[in-house]
Amino acid sequence: MTKSVHKVCIVGSGPAGYTAAIYAARANLEPVMFAGGPTEHDQARVPGGQLMITTDVENYPGFPEAVTGPELMERFQKQAQRFGTMMFMENVVKVDFTKRPFHVQGESQSLEAKTVILATGATAKYLSVKGEDFYKNRGVSACATCDGAFYKNMDVLVVGGGDTAMEEASYLTKMCKTVTLIHRRDTLRASKIMQKRVLENPKVTPIWNTVVEEVVGDGKQMTGAVVRNLKTNETMQVQAHGLFVAIGHVPNTELAKGAVELQENGYIKTVPGSTRTNIPGVFACGDVQDHYYRQAVTAAGTGCMAAIDAERWMTEHEA
Ligand code: NDP
Repeated sequence: MTKSVHKVCIVGSGPAGYTAAIYAARANLEPVMFAGGPTEHDQARVPGGQLMITTDVENYPGFPEAVTGPELMERFQKQAQRFGTMMFMENVVKVDFTKRPFHVQGESQSLEAKTVILATGATAKYLSVKGEDFYKNRGVSACATCDGAFYKNMDVLVVGGGDTAMEEASYLTKMCKTVTLIHRRDTLRASKIMQKRVLENPKVTPIWNTVVEEVVGDGKQMTGAVVRNLKTNETMQVQAHGLFVAIGHVPNTELAKGAVELQENGYIKTVPGSTRTNIPGVFACGDVQDHYYRQAVTAAGTGCMAAIDAERWMTEHEA
């Protein structure tokens, strides 16, 4: 339990949170970070955000030979700690922004802070179809890097048409026998370079205009999926041992709901060109407030903005 009032409390430890910490620490704001940890629903959850379940990151500037997501986040963390960020490896369960200083309640630590930076990121979406929940971790996954190795020389399905789906499909071709890409339209949303890499891989077969209606199995393991063609309305069963869902994300706003204003799509609302929320002294950065760019580098950029916004806000409001 920390008694004194901290200058900056950062909630979340992805590229946005760590970058906010690096900037805040170097500005002598002695930031405290709740980096997150396992939750009731996700016992394997670790600090670092979505890059912890990513393979090679080829587009983060400064790494011409690519870097793995976990290695990149380890570097972010070390850099934040080097300048004195105090880190709690636990989740925040409650915030109170109705009075100052703000109150932040962690699972075991609670503290007061003059400013709070929300950097809680976003989480992968699932399909919400019959059988999906039952066969999670028995075939159904949202992370090829985490679970791909279980499907060595087996047939797997990937659902989605964005860059995540391409990345998952591409990764799975390295160990699986076949990868069937199921997409609800006949054009992919993914960047051209990633589309090309996947569609030119002989192990990949796309099935267009098609959705998964049910995940089926033998009661222990998934054995396939019932899919429906949206043009013909025909259904068929595709045999597969694994199904990797890669259809986008939802913002992690459990804490923010009711505490700061959200946009209609559920992401935190910030004043354009800044990281300011509707509560003076509370800032938001990274994917929890950005449904559009959602890149590690843009998250890091807004993390930097949040630390600068917090510092200037404190200077203006209490010197
Ligand atoms: P996107 O929102 O870009 O893509 C989601 C895909 O899933 C779309 O093709 C969408 O179909 C499909 N989809 C959504 N809901 C359903 C559903 N219920 N059933 C079936 N299909 C569904 O999300 P991503 O996670 O792929 O990417 C997010 C952002 O992150 C993007 O900006 C992307 O560029 C970036 N990214 C970059 C990477 C890289 O450069 N290395 C790697 C991963 C992500 P439809 O197209 O019809 O809408």
